[in-house]
Amino acid sequence: MQIGYNVGTTLERSALEQDLKFCEESGFDLIELEWDKSLAEYLENHTLSELRAYFDNHRLKPLSLNALASINNRAEAEEDEVVRKFEKMAEAAETLGIPYIVVTPLRTEAKLTRADIQASCVRVLRRLSEIAEPKGIKIALEFVGEPEYTVNTLEQSLAIVEETARDNVGATFDFFHFHAMNSKLETLREADPERIFIVHLSDAPDYVPGMLREHEDRLWPGQGVMRSEEMLNVLREIGCQAAFSVEVFQKEYDKLSVEEAIRTAYETASKLLERTPSNPIIF
Ligand code: ZN
Repeated sequence: MQIGYNVGTTLERSALEQDLKFCEESGFDLIELEWDKSLAEYLENHTLSELRAYFDNHRLKPLSLNALASINNRAEAEEDEVVRKFEKMAEAAETLGIPYIVVTPLRTEAKLTRADIQASCVRVLRRLSEIAEPKGIKIALEFVGEPEYTVNTLEQSLAIVEETARDNVGATFDFFHFHAMNSKLETLREADPERIFIVHLSDAPDYVPGMLREHEDRLWPGQGVMRSEEMLNVLREIGCQAAFSVEVFQKEYDKLSVEEAIRTAYETASKLLERTPSNPIIF
């Protein structure tokens, strides 16, 4: 079984070198990198080739680069800026051998129609797809389960992916986001397993839909009220072969050292995956 770690979990207080060391020691097989802070700080004293050499010589491999944010419903010049940023991320991902880049939707208080959001997402994703395609990189659109995000349910993200209709464009299925806005298990049951590229694991306390905040309320996998085992079983039933990765932002956990946090992430995720009656197929 292979499990990944999303460096967002300890982003504010760790450095990539530390994350790599403790992920390898804890037993993680995969790591999700972060562009704006973690990788940027690493590159102040290192090169991409050094990082590539690290991955070539260790068991730990890169899973994704996170995240190109606010991709849709932007003014023309802003959208071009988003695309330019993606070009830089895709170049780095190619050098590092990272298979996926995660992209996330615009957060806004403005009321936009579903159709406007869908049309914009499809257009931007097709632009990004063209850049990623020759580099062999895939794009994983992650819906965010808070009301202000323009794409906030699994249903909506899969509809966008379907209309985009590009082999290298799929969805990130994040347990927290799924639970937080009441996405339906039925949608997951009907999903094309090949369109789910990455699965993010965490859990949540018992708040009603629309009240959960991803940067405050995430708990370690299996430690909240989510129907995690049902979700895992449905993923297995549909034949999803996406990689599983732990992603938890929780201020309470900042009391733990980076080493303890990464070890806990691994232990809670592996325990959850092991106690699920029929383990899903793992990437
Ligand atoms: Zn996520």
